[in-house]
Amino acid sequence: MLAVNTRASEAVVDAREMDIVESVLNLAVQNPAEEDFSAADLTWTKFGTAEHHDEVALIPYDRVDAFIIGECSNPECPTRFHIERGRKRARGTLKDYKTDEYLEYKLYWCSFGPENYGEGGGVLPSRKYRLNTRNRAARPQSMRGCTCHFVVKRLYARPSQALIIYNERRHVNKSGFVCHGPLDRDAIGPGAKKIPYICNEIQQQTMSMIYLGIPEENVLEKHIEGIQRYCGSNPKVNSLASQYVHKLGMIIKRSTHELDLDDQASIRMWVERNKKSIFFYQDSLESDAFILGIQTEWQLQQMIRFGHRSLIAADSTFGIKRLKYPLCTLLVFDSRQHALPVAWIITRSSAKPDVAKWMKALLGRASSVEPGWKISGFLIDDAAAEIDPIRDIFGCPVLFSLWRVRRSWLRNIVKKCGNIEVQREIFKRLGEIVYSIWGGVDTLSALEELTHDLVDQTAFIQYFKASWVPKIEMWLSTMRALPLASQEASGAIEAYHVKLKAKLFDDSHLGALQRVDWLVHKLTTELHSSYWLDRYADESDSFQNVKEEYIASTSWHRALQIPNSSVTVDDKDHLFAKVSSQKDNNVTRIVWNPGSEFAFCDCAWSLQGNLCKHVIKVNMICENREGYQPSMSFRAFKELLTSLWKKPMDDSVGLDLSIAWAHQMLDQIKHLVELDSSKTIGTVVNNMPLKWVSKKGRTSIGIPSSVLALPSSSKSGSNNAVARKKSQKRKRLSRLR
Ligand SMILES: [Zn+2]
Ligand SMILES: [Zn+2]
Repeated sequence: MLAVNTRASEAVVDAREMDIVESVLNLAVQNPAEEDFSAADLTWTKFGTAEHHDEVALIPYDRVDAFIIGECSNPECPTRFHIERGRKRARGTLKDYKTDEYLEYKLYWCSFGPENYGEGGGVLPSRKYRLNTRNRAARPQSMRGCTCHFVVKRLYARPSQALIIYNERRHVNKSGFVCHGPLDRDAIGPGAKKIPYICNEIQQQTMSMIYLGIPEENVLEKHIEGIQRYCGSNPKVNSLASQYVHKLGMIIKRSTHELDLDDQASIRMWVERNKKSIFFYQDSLESDAFILGIQTEWQLQQMIRFGHRSLIAADSTFGIKRLKYPLCTLLVFDSRQHALPVAWIITRSSAKPDVAKWMKALLGRASSVEPGWKISGFLIDDAAAEIDPIRDIFGCPVLFSLWRVRRSWLRNIVKKCGNIEVQREIFKRLGEIVYSIWGGVDTLSALEELTHDLVDQTAFIQYFKASWVPKIEMWLSTMRALPLASQEASGAIEAYHVKLKAKLFDDSHLGALQRVDWLVHKLTTELHSSYWLDRYADESDSFQNVKEEYIASTSWHRALQIPNSSVTVDDKDHLFAKVSSQKDNNVTRIVWNPGSEFAFCDCAWSLQGNLCKHVIKVNMICENREGYQPSMSFRAFKELLTSLWKKPMDDSVGLDLSIAWAHQMLDQIKHLVELDSSKTIGTVVNNMPLKWVSKKGRTSIGIPSSVLALPSSSKSGSNNAVARKKSQKRKRLSRLR
């Protein structure tokens, strides 16, 4: 009996071995005719060796998107796939390689996994409020421990082909049970079997709306719209959705930052439960400082998308006096050049090794998803900041933004000097000192003269002597050494800062300022939600009032709405400019010291220390007029070009190389200006070189592309239907992210 059995199983092994393909060259490329297709439309082959083989299929590389879309719309388990890991290598770097060696490698994972935050996973923060209830329908997390995942390899030897390796095709958890979708037997709550689990995006949308205080019926309406994308309309589903939204609202209302009475223990618990949202954590020990680096999946995607070949800015040392640990926010400039927070670092340590640690971790995280990800510049706002780690790790130039200096001077001037004429004068004089970094004025004697002239302004002079005189040289020399950021960037960073301040310091939790768990809770719930919804509203063209408010959230944008005719400039002495209000003809704002970063306006927003739209508008106008100095960032740019020009050169190959580089730079700047000033993107696209067009078919998932980030414009002509189809597809792709 035994012998027979052995022989039989040997025979099986033989038969299997015969099916195993060892070279990609022996696989046929499959190209299903449907617009989108899934694993079910492909023939899967065993690939590898008898000991180790995978299920694979070979498809054209430009059909990868179609395959992913097909996989997401599996009726039994509707889902999305995200890139869990990615790798890339440059062409020509390998001498010997196997037929399945990759040029690009991406591991896609079902977004209901890999972690399990549900039953059997970690205890949910909100769970303690629900222990006494029998009804477990509402689940604030949708991670279900799903193990479904596949790899897409763009082949090194044949880049036009992609090898799909399906590691786990079933949507099951570690125990092997279907873990989401209508077939999930372990579905939680009444009727949950009939309703698909709420995917991350709908859940995020619903949570964001609740956090922002949007009325429940509106939240519900949007929530149902979202679910119906998966399962069609159904009264049962609608009533369950209504229960879900209501309960989620209750959970959010009752949820707390305090996971433990002890703040440190509470943070440890939060860290344990939110591993996916943390890129660096160092508990405070005797030798180590406390560092917590927060970045949600969504923030990571935004950082990759908007940071690549673009800028990152830091709003550093927020709350240095009031919070237990100060907060540093890293910002990117989104498709509207608004500042978007993509990482939060909570720590008191600004020591070089500590900064280097979290920066390395952050860059490593981005590179593991998008190899080759790189920023072009890093904006800092603190002259005391360590810039070596930035240069070493990000390998890019460091720029300096004046917004923080400007803001704290202006706030203190307004607070400490009663007379508006005096306020204007002081601000102007301080501005002159800053402008003196390009020579002409001796800083020390200018400061002495200032304190002498303002001898009766004791409150301000005291403040200035205590807070600024000791370090003003350091600040000025930083401004001298680094290129300076524009007013638009400064305004955008300031807008973020103001919003953060309003969110953090507005409520009655003032005692909570000393708790880190409270800060973390505020950032990851309310603030995160509001930025998420802003972007979502803009990109999906929904939530019109949210969208409008978001667009108007920077002074730069508000300034663009002021017509030139509303501004009158005093051309004789260049002392002031007037901006008449569009809402009320009787109101006129006076902008003092026009054409300078240290311009000062009499509107309420400016008197709070902010960079107001009137100042920006007046400066925009002065920039093009004779007799006004250029802005500081423009001066810095000119200085840079001049120093390049002055660099001595012989007639060598070095000169050729410099010409080539200068040309590249010029081309890139030209493109940037063209994109920036063009009203319809069509005119720019039409002028693009051919190679840009050929990129269309490539996968756009996870690839940061400024082209994708541009607002779509009306397309005309006979290509309309094609264009519409493409844009539908793009919309669906953007949902996959
Ligand atoms: Zn799944
Ligand atoms: Zn103003």
